[in-house]
Amino acid sequence: MIFTSPYPPIAQPPAQDLPTFIFDYAEKHSAFGANPSLPALTDHDTTQSFMDVQRMADRFASGLINLGLQRGDTIAILIPNTVYYPAIILGALMAGLVCATANPAFTASEITHLLNLSEAKAVIATEQNLPTVLTAIGNSDVFVMRHRILTIDGRENTVHGTLSDKPYPRMRLTTNEEARNTPAFLLLSSGTTGLPKGVLLSHANIATNVLQNLIVEAHDPYISETERHSLQQACIACLPFFHCYGLVPGMFLSIVKARHQIVMARFDLEQFCILVERHRVAIAHIVPPAVILLAESPIVDKYDLSSFAYLSSGGAPLTHETQAKFRKKHGLRILQAYGLSETSPATHRTRAEGAPDGSIGYLMSSMECIIVGDNGERLGPNELGEICMRGPNIMMGYHRNAEATSETIDKDGFLHTGDIGRVDDNGNYFIVDRKKELIKYKGFQVAPAELEGLLMEHPAVLDAAVIQVIDRAQETEVPKAFVVVRSALGSDELAEDIRAWVAERVVYYKALRGGVELVESIPKSASGKILRRVLRDIEAGRLRTA
Ligand code: AMP
Repeated sequence: MIFTSPYPPIAQPPAQDLPTFIFDYAEKHSAFGANPSLPALTDHDTTQSFMDVQRMADRFASGLINLGLQRGDTIAILIPNTVYYPAIILGALMAGLVCATANPAFTASEITHLLNLSEAKAVIATEQNLPTVLTAIGNSDVFVMRHRILTIDGRENTVHGTLSDKPYPRMRLTTNEEARNTPAFLLLSSGTTGLPKGVLLSHANIATNVLQNLIVEAHDPYISETERHSLQQACIACLPFFHCYGLVPGMFLSIVKARHQIVMARFDLEQFCILVERHRVAIAHIVPPAVILLAESPIVDKYDLSSFAYLSSGGAPLTHETQAKFRKKHGLRILQAYGLSETSPATHRTRAEGAPDGSIGYLMSSMECIIVGDNGERLGPNELGEICMRGPNIMMGYHRNAEATSETIDKDGFLHTGDIGRVDDNGNYFIVDRKKELIKYKGFQVAPAELEGLLMEHPAVLDAAVIQVIDRAQETEVPKAFVVVRSALGSDELAEDIRAWVAERVVYYKALRGGVELVESIPKSASGKILRRVLRDIEAGRLRTA
């Protein structure tokens, strides 16, 4: 059977480019319309009003056209959260570019992969990662001219130095078809298997997800009640804007609701508490490891967090024990959201109160869901299977990878998430397991295939498999490697050496925090596929007997 959303469908499919949609919506429906000089974003020393964001986006779009960039070109954006991030993104989109956003802490080889995948023609970096970015460009197949490599904080070739007042041909999309067929973002995700791929999200995909989130909020009786009491709410932007979760339910939703985003470049518990207290923060989007910190750390006792209307946890599984612990400690509302980069991202969210423990909530507006069993059969309520979804927020596809796209989106248009779950009789969804290869370290994607490929380059390694193990204390999954080494070399030091060798070559969150275990062989199927389930069962068995 096909499950549908309990929410009313989106009244009108988006028929504009994303910047026009965001600015128009905010002007017509939010406090920014009446007062565009209200603060939109603040970090430690700068505030940008809504008007500042609009103005800077426009001037940056003009600057990008001056650099010779053309509609359809891709710009790689490798910067941490700053108050300028929305203007940079929106400006690039106004110039008709596609934004490939990724982690600024990436190593040179990870950036090279992104550049090759996205065929970037321009890059935005920081003074700090510029040397790595330059190495990555040198090792890549793309040619990025030096004047198209901009930093947000350097002395020359900067985003600010590029701003221009010259009139330019702004890209305008005026039909839903154009908005659906024009890519806006290329985000990295490994999907259900293999290496990180480029998820292409259209202008309409993102605008749709903003609307879907707005509909959920409008139908949440608990949220409307708190919103009536405060004119402009402050929210804390501690999730990375380069990830779809920080970008859409975080950055874009905040702009169209005229929220004041308090920007953090990275999550730090004490800093988070200080900012919440100082700015009377009402809303935060966080990941489960932050929920456990807030529930357990004595640091939080020093601060007043009572300004919160609610916090929203997503990006990785949140156990109901942690949710309960958090509620008991703070008496605050913590809701749960679920989604994927491939779905722009949110597909489910609970209301601020009243959802059953552990649930990810109802299916969002204009979406359909099927739950698929092991033999491809469609299941009913309360039966466990793979969650598959269809709707206007499903990605355009994986960039230049028709094979991976058709393996993920079936002929009926349902995207196979690789997550195992069920829906109860009242429409509440639950995620209980993941059948895809993906590991999530604190909400960040770690692709086992990527680490296995790297391990195979180590001179002592003959074969390798990577799986997730759970770090309960930190409420996160961590990657662990099983490694077969050349004979007679096996020792604890070698395992440690391999772990350290990998850590030097990957961004911090892909490090083998679950350890390296030397084994005689890797369990494989007749066709040579790694049987990760066998390894996960071995690990689970050890946990039970420990
Ligand atoms: P990403 O594309 O990085 O957002 O990763 C998407 C994946 O994160 C999903 O397919 C899930 O496996 C996992 N995920 C996201 N949110 C949740 C949640 N609330 N509960 C369980 N898993 C989640």
